[in-house]
Amino acid sequence: MEKTIHIAVVPGPGFSHLVPILQFSKRLVQLHPNFHVTCLIPTLVSPPSASKSILETLPSNINSIFLEPVKPEDLPQGAAIESQIQLIVALSMPSFHQALETLTSRTHFVALVADSSALDALEFAQEFNMLSYIYVPISATTLSWYFYLPILDKETSCEYRDFPEPIKIPGCVPIHGRDLNNLVQDRSSGLYKNFLQRVWRIRLVDGIFINSFLEMETNPIKALKEEGRGYPPVYPVGPIVQTGDDAKGLECVTWLDKQQVGSVLYVSFGSGGTLSQEQITELAYGLELSNHKFLWVVRAPSSLASDAYLSTQNDVDPLQFLPTGFLERTKEQGMVIPSWAPQIQVLGHSSVGGFLTHCGWNSTLESVLNGVPLITWPLFAEQRMNAVLLSEGLKVGVRPRASENGLVERVEIIEVIKRLMEGEEGGKMRKRMHELKEAATNALKEDGSSTKTLSELALKWKSLT
Ligand code: UDP
Repeated sequence: MEKTIHIAVVPGPGFSHLVPILQFSKRLVQLHPNFHVTCLIPTLVSPPSASKSILETLPSNINSIFLEPVKPEDLPQGAAIESQIQLIVALSMPSFHQALETLTSRTHFVALVADSSALDALEFAQEFNMLSYIYVPISATTLSWYFYLPILDKETSCEYRDFPEPIKIPGCVPIHGRDLNNLVQDRSSGLYKNFLQRVWRIRLVDGIFINSFLEMETNPIKALKEEGRGYPPVYPVGPIVQTGDDAKGLECVTWLDKQQVGSVLYVSFGSGGTLSQEQITELAYGLELSNHKFLWVVRAPSSLASDAYLSTQNDVDPLQFLPTGFLERTKEQGMVIPSWAPQIQVLGHSSVGGFLTHCGWNSTLESVLNGVPLITWPLFAEQRMNAVLLSEGLKVGVRPRASENGLVERVEIIEVIKRLMEGEEGGKMRKRMHELKEAATNALKEDGSSTKTLSELALKWKSLT
């Protein structure tokens, strides 16, 4: 019998950091059944029920351990979401160290793979004789930006958003400074300095897995792998996404069953994205007046776009924030779901012809794997960079423009819906998305680029055991 090879993985706190690394782990053990993964999870208070239910479905060669939960009173009030995540990870480290001590006293763990928000965990890799890796559920474009940042930081002094020209990151579509991730938008802030430090730190690992694939981001991946840049090895192993459960009988799926093929626009802002009350109103009127069918996951409004990210807004009914009479007027045209939809099943349904998305990377890849073109409406984190890649680079999406007051107004919403769902431009985006879907499916086949990349590494780990 082949010897079991053990690796440990550490997600960041929050559902959307847990899912990708678990999917990565599943893919690893599915391709290499003699691997065993132990997932050590930092958490705030008790884990959300979505996280718990996903852990219940894991195969027997992946097990999970919740680290000592961090108390909300230990986090500074009103801190940015990125700082909260960092702090939850930092405060979980004593418990992590203890867990690793116990585990490694019985078994040799060959590698430690951390989510990019859980870099602190990698500090212990050497102590326990493990190789250190990062799994970043982001695009090659975003990783290229991370690596390019220290260079740009040295060469320039003004805010990136004030650059007159788009920034040329090696191998990537030029990106305007204002579209870079939130953490670099104020260079005098502690957040920026902390981010810069972390960017330096990720260069010191033994390798970085990205959830992308060669055929989708050929040039950024080539640039990342170019010798002489001094980057650690980068392994594109995607697209790795969740698989959906059987959704037959669910109300929204029954509703989709009754619609025409490709006629419905699915609208969702990810696991935690929220809009302001004014923006919800504009979106509601935009959807209604577009006269297109829609399936909208509505969340209660917030002035902070990432507000529902670490919490679930269970106690508020989001439908009360819709314009008066909206539900009645659109009852034949659309369906509204409070807070959460079975997204995998929705995107896989033949009635869905477009996805208005916040461009979270998981949502993006799920859409790619289903060949659904996009309206790209980024909110926070690196979503604006994804939007640029999708709409300007790959040309599989159309991006609405916000007006001067920051709102995307109903007229603009109607316009982008029509551009995507009707006519020649939409048809071209659909065709390109179909080509991308084919390429994604191929990358995951036995002889596909991503499968081969992961297998090469698995072989290396085997040889070290
Ligand atoms: N998701 C879902 N239903 C929802 C909203 C989100 O199933 O109503 C899932 C979605 O399929 C994806 C993840 O949550 O796998 C969201 O990840 P993404 O990277 O797109 O965005 P984030 O939540 O990190 O902003």
